[in-house]
Amino acid sequence: MEASLATDYYKTLGIQRSADVSDIKKAYRKLARKFHPDVNPGNDEAEQKFKEIQEAYAVLSDADKRKQYDTFGTVDGDPTAGFDPFRRAQRRSGAQGPEGFRVDFDGMGGFQDLGDIFSQFFGGARPGKTRQAPRRGADQELAVEISFADAVQGTTISLPVQRQLQCSTCGGSGTAQRSNCPSCHGVGVVISTEKLRVKVPEGVADGNRVRVAGKGADGGQGGASGDLFVRVKVRPHGFFERDGDNVHSTIPVTFPEAYLGAEVEVGTIHGPVRAKVPPGTNSGRTFRLRGKGVRNTKTRAHGDHLYTVEIVVPRVVSPAGEEVARKANELYQGNPRDALPRTL
Ligand SMILES: [Zn+2]
Repeated sequence: MEASLATDYYKTLGIQRSADVSDIKKAYRKLARKFHPDVNPGNDEAEQKFKEIQEAYAVLSDADKRKQYDTFGTVDGDPTAGFDPFRRAQRRSGAQGPEGFRVDFDGMGGFQDLGDIFSQFFGGARPGKTRQAPRRGADQELAVEISFADAVQGTTISLPVQRQLQCSTCGGSGTAQRSNCPSCHGVGVVISTEKLRVKVPEGVADGNRVRVAGKGADGGQGGASGDLFVRVKVRPHGFFERDGDNVHSTIPVTFPEAYLGAEVEVGTIHGPVRAKVPPGTNSGRTFRLRGKGVRNTKTRAHGDHLYTVEIVVPRVVSPAGEEVARKANELYQGNPRDALPRTL
């Protein structure tokens, strides 16, 4: 006769009653990652679920307790007595914890979520196994948005970077003193946040990645850390438009300036430049200012600034103006649209 189970630990871990130790461990680690308090800050439901998983694992991973549970449907005493990961998690969420690690989600729109960090880690160096060869830690990527000016001039940004590090209490095994490690809740990994100063080179373009060596995931078994890649998103500028290393702008000119020629001020990312508009310049014509564009991050050579002339019409209409305009029209030899096709 099978005992009726008040709490079905097998169901909690999503495993068969015939599951062996490695099945149990695998199921536990998978669920623990998903419902880990560091991954679900402030989520009471996940917290409850994590507790249930902890309890189920504490019983089923212990041969004696499992036997007792399988036979009687219950285990004497509290299987997780003396172990409350949440007392620690709550304390940590306010200020810096005793180990100086705190998960901080503030202001990081494009930040990689912790679930990804865990899956990356577990996809690479697997904790809990001993005598594995050293393995390089996974690369990590995070996104950051900067202004157009910072991109073309270069800047240094301060980033809170979350890294998963092998738990120093249990050495990554997830087990301390024959029970779940209290520091990492048995997962073998802790998350640390450190402020990183990242130099973004002059000329960085939207979508570029800046590599920060050794600031990715911790390597397993003493292996080297992976790299951190900071993906840069550049906010567009209202006036300057970038095309590779070249910068474009549109410069309004008057009809007399276009007709007679003029010297006009053209703003560039390196400051204003006096530039020529030759006599007889048509609207839409583009001129080049060599070396006034963006510095290439690799060749260090500067691109060009291209300005397109746009003839603007005076806003004020007056009898005197109309007279001038009629006179100006006499300057055209015939209809400027004469040479255009009339249809397809
Ligand atoms: Zn640990």
